[in-house]
Amino acid sequence: MRKTAFSALLTFLLLFSFSISAFAEPQSKPNGPWIQPNQEVKLESLMSPEQLEEKLHQINERARDGRMDLEVVGHSATYEYPIYAVKFGEADTDNPKVFIQTQIHGDEQLGTEASIDLIQQLAMSNNKDIVEILDNVTVWFIPMLNPDGAVIFDTPNGQSKQRQNIQTWDPAEYGLDEGTSAPWYYRPDSVSGEMGFDVNRDFHPHLDLELSPETADLIPSVSSQPGVFATPEARASRDVFAELQPDLFIDHHHRYSNVVSEEDDSLNTLQVIAQVVNDDTMVSYDGVDYQLEEDSLNLSKQVNSLVYQSLQKGNSPFSAVSRYPEVNLPGTALGSYSMNGAAIMLYETRGQQHPYGHTGQKANGQYTKQSYIGLYETLRGFATGEVYEIDPEFYDEEIPYGSPSIGRPN
Ligand SMILES: [Zn+2]
Repeated sequence: MRKTAFSALLTFLLLFSFSISAFAEPQSKPNGPWIQPNQEVKLESLMSPEQLEEKLHQINERARDGRMDLEVVGHSATYEYPIYAVKFGEADTDNPKVFIQTQIHGDEQLGTEASIDLIQQLAMSNNKDIVEILDNVTVWFIPMLNPDGAVIFDTPNGQSKQRQNIQTWDPAEYGLDEGTSAPWYYRPDSVSGEMGFDVNRDFHPHLDLELSPETADLIPSVSSQPGVFATPEARASRDVFAELQPDLFIDHHHRYSNVVSEEDDSLNTLQVIAQVVNDDTMVSYDGVDYQLEEDSLNLSKQVNSLVYQSLQKGNSPFSAVSRYPEVNLPGTALGSYSMNGAAIMLYETRGQQHPYGHTGQKANGQYTKQSYIGLYETLRGFATGEVYEIDPEFYDEEIPYGSPSIGRPN
């Protein structure tokens, strides 16, 4: 009797623990890492605007044989942080030219970390592959375009940075009437509540556009229309783009968690995209029609494919890569620049850096490395010419598409 009761209890416990584990089965392969409920979100391990500035000056002082130029190309809207461009190689060259930009959204920071690692290599290393890049590719960076958004503030759930810049819409600044409506992308930041602009909707394919009474009718009210360069951050970026006229523009972002596809439920570590405006989208200004060109779109697909292929090699922990959803956003940096003849690549790394979607400290090193590999292999692909040998159709046919978005497994 006693024995029977004991085995009944044992059976119950076994069943109970099985049912627990069945309930605990995550909705996706748990290749996280996820932030734990009690894990405090601390962002100090990632660079602040001050630390970035210090680091850039340190690297510049140690750079070999005048390889690197460090320039201030603008200042942020409210805290007036310098916005830096880091330049390797000349704009006036027959070499391919690459422009890498990070942290246009202040809470999307790992592209900055990866860029600093790459800048350090380019500035200091005499490794033959690095030297080959320097000899054959011009590469300019803006690491942290939006330093105001990158300033840490406290929230009830932990520390955070924010997506938007911090800026008050002041029509008089542009010579406009006091009652002039702001662009649609001026609003309170979703995390901080601070008024500002989504800098990544503030671009227009006509790069010389200045917001003034003559251009006030271009202030957009919907996202299908381009922006008007209302922010000093977007103007700093477009000045660098206009000076360099790059063959390729790379913009580095983060998004929340997705799985690879309906068929593959591995957690995405990265999403990529080669096209952010439709084939038939045209923006006309002053007699010029801005549109995507087939050559640059093909190069975009080659670059995105190269990065995808690089991340699939060997036993890569970064193989869960897919294509970002199709969008039509001419007011993004990528959109406007792609309508000016540049190939583009968007990085959307897993994990937003604030308490509502944070992936935790452990992921930061991994995802920084993933972006480093992508950026480095891209420069190698241009230095060796291999990027031009990739079939652009690989992008459409081989990179998984249609990733469902998921919440955190409990
Ligand atoms: Zn972003």
